Amino acid sequence: MTAARVRIQPNCEGEDPDLLPVSIAYERIAGSLIPITETESVPLTETRGRVLSDEIIAPHDVPPHRNSAMDGYAVCEADLPKNGIRTLKVVGTAWAGKPYKGEMRTGETVRVMTGARMPDEANTVVMQEQAEQTGDTIRIDNRHKVGQNVRQAGEDLRVGASVLPAGRRIGPAELGLLASLGLERVRCFRRLRVAVFSTGDEVRIPGQPLESGAIYDSNRYTLRAMLERFQIELHDLGVLPDDRDAMRAALDDAGRNTDVIVTSGGVSAGAADFVKPTLEELGQVGFWKIAIRPGRPLAFGRINSAAFFGLPGNPVAVMVTFYQFVREALRALAGETDPHPEPLFDVTLKSRLRKKPGRIEYYRAVVERAGNGALTVRATGATGSGLLHTMSDANCFIVLPEEADTQEPGATVRVQPFYGLI
Ligand code: AMP
Ligand code: MG
Repeated sequence: MTAARVRIQPNCEGEDPDLLPVSIAYERIAGSLIPITETESVPLTETRGRVLSDEIIAPHDVPPHRNSAMDGYAVCEADLPKNGIRTLKVVGTAWAGKPYKGEMRTGETVRVMTGARMPDEANTVVMQEQAEQTGDTIRIDNRHKVGQNVRQAGEDLRVGASVLPAGRRIGPAELGLLASLGLERVRCFRRLRVAVFSTGDEVRIPGQPLESGAIYDSNRYTLRAMLERFQIELHDLGVLPDDRDAMRAALDDAGRNTDVIVTSGGVSAGAADFVKPTLEELGQVGFWKIAIRPGRPLAFGRINSAAFFGLPGNPVAVMVTFYQFVREALRALAGETDPHPEPLFDVTLKSRLRKKPGRIEYYRAVVERAGNGALTVRATGATGSGLLHTMSDANCFIVLPEEADTQEPGATVRVQPFYGLI
């Protein structure tokens, strides 16, 4: 016989033993994603941020011909003096894009500009600053190495070589590489269609009047901005009221017309949190309490043909859960199979961070160089998950793992920067 007792809800301090670790939550998400397979031919200039569907093989050498790396004089190996000085006759000039057409014999040299095709007979370039020119002759000494200042054909890319793998997202360097191969169009996966909406009777659109009890929508704007970094096709469905029928219709519709649905709010256990019961009706959505702060409640599943992410309502929780879950999932769904690992740095902490073991915590922070050149990191202060200014004040997250407890100044902590060069 068990004694009757009141079942107490776990409190907000995270002592709930049922919290799902972030790594397991993401494994479950990753395991149920169905990446895009449809491809399309995309004009080169529109490929930034798109994902290659086919491997790129070099159709020719890059550079296509041997060329000079300096402004100087093309010299045959036999004409480089072993000792003493040698005088050579300047018989012509090769410009970038305008090769020297004549022959170059022993005892002769051709003036070459950077990028100019090398005369066939020459394999070395003497910088103009190291040659003494008088009239149509130059004098060179014995300081030069055979082959210096010459870029070989195919030095960057060899004909037939694999240049980029399928599944690579195209950034500025990839775009330049594709251009250097002369490709006008490339095959990419089609863009993901992503629906985004906010929920809540209290949520107003900027420009509308704000009556008592109402707030302005910020989540849809942070979400749009984070999503738009991915070259997705955005379906902004606005703000949905806390109304079951409206919610069901909108979700059902979005699930037919998009690949991903991202919502914010309505997924906790409040009386007006209608996303949850509606999704339970539409099926295949799980509600997770994740061992993460901020951002504990997260709904994930499938609505019709779309992957569904129901993010929490609090603005910082929206950004944290987007970065830790949705972003990775979007990359996989978009066909990206070859992402560079994201840098995490171990940095000396300047502030005190209060924490209990049991969940991952993301603190908004500023990483900066101290006077002695060492990297340090300090928390931006307030930690409330509704305080969006703490994200704007920060340039990184400090990520404390599940098992960590309070950290004192001087501790080494892990930092995830907000910015990358690419
Ligand atoms: P909920 O999970 O819907 O109860 O929302 C949690 C908190 O986030 C509440 O204080 C909401 O007012 C707030 N919130 C929900 N949606 C938004 C939004 N789109 N923009 C700003 N705050 C929001
Ligand atoms: Mg709400």
